Amino acid sequence: MIDLHTHSNRSDGALAPAELVTRAAAAGVATLALTDHDTVDGLDEAGHAAKGLGVEFVPGVEISAGWRSQAIHVLGLWIDPRSPALSAALASQAARRRDRMRAICAQLSAKGLPGERLQAEVEAMAGLPTRAHLALALVAGGHVRRMEDAFRIHLGRGRIAQIAADWPALAEVVAWIVAAGGTASLAHPTRYALSAGARRQLLADFAAAGGRSLEVVTGGNAAHHVETCAALATRYGLSGSVGSDFHSPDRPWNTLGRSLKLPACVIPAWRERGVFEPSGQM
Ligand code: AMP
Ligand code: MN
Ligand code: MN
Ligand code: MN
Repeated sequence: MIDLHTHSNRSDGALAPAELVTRAAAAGVATLALTDHDTVDGLDEAGHAAKGLGVEFVPGVEISAGWRSQAIHVLGLWIDPRSPALSAALASQAARRRDRMRAICAQLSAKGLPGERLQAEVEAMAGLPTRAHLALALVAGGHVRRMEDAFRIHLGRGRIAQIAADWPALAEVVAWIVAAGGTASLAHPTRYALSAGARRQLLADFAAAGGRSLEVVTGGNAAHHVETCAALATRYGLSGSVGSDFHSPDRPWNTLGRSLKLPACVIPAWRERGVFEPSGQM
């Protein structure tokens, strides 16, 4: 099995990088990418663990980009985490995330919530801060019952998340990944609030910028999504990647190692990177 999209506690995942790899190996994953949000901090630990377990490790990252005021996630796969261009870019992304977290917490304060305390709790957590950290802090503080409620009431689209529009342009993010020798794959293309026409324009812009792949199969994706994505990949000359987007054993819709079968009409992203697999192993 191949899984090219997972998170560790270096961003908003629950498991340490080595724990993640151990769990993936036990679930039958033969090729695994760690793709934390805007950080490569976990790659050394994960790569080391993978070596010991005979898992083929793909160094990755999931970078937040802006396109038409939407946050778009771009996976960088087979990146060189030590690329100077990428390192500088990720340092700026980390600063942006910390500033954004402060701004969001200030807005929560304005709504009568204890913004400063929530911010301190997020800062005490492992990993580069994301809205998922803040959602956990809101749950822990008893302000909402579940993470989904935190997004629905406070952090989701049309709420405070409007602050999220400040990400670097899509083309710039793709260029960082290319500079680091990586394959840029557009993550979970059906999860954005875009019309079908806007999504096609997104794909056209992504391909023009040097994007090479589309995440055709992602955790919890319905069959018709896979068909839609496979058609888009073909139309824009992109290969396909597959990934669970695993975050935590507590979020079972993104199960690690769940069979992620790429339709036969799509060229696998890993094939152009020289990773082959015996037939019937997907
Ligand atoms: P950020 O990148 O800081 O905007 O945070 C986005 C992260 O929050 C995503 O990567 C998801 O892991 C998580 N997330 C987004 N929406 C939800 C939701 N409705 N329920 C739980 N987690 C979510
Ligand atoms: Mn996440
Ligand atoms: Mn994502
Ligand atoms: Mn992800």
